[in-house]
Amino acid sequence: MTGAGLCGNCRHKRLIVSDRGSVFLRCERAKTDPAYPKYPALPVWTCAGYEAETAAPPPPGRQRPAS
Ligand code: SF4
Repeated sequence: MTGAGLCGNCRHKRLIVSDRGSVFLRCERAKTDPAYPKYPALPVWTCAGYEAETAAPPPPGRQRPAS
């Protein structure tokens, strides 16, 4: 998601699509911590709760051999 700042690459975001096709970004941390807004004002450039999304590790047997 472009233009969202940190939220766009955060593992705690959820993208919500309305009936009209509008896309909203929701912060899942808000469910358990009131310090986080449910719908952050974008873009977010600083956030203590930010954690980068990580790519899934390759399945067993598909990992590169050590060189
Ligand atoms: S934890 Fe911070 S960066 Fe991550 S989705 Fe929530 S507000 Fe955005």
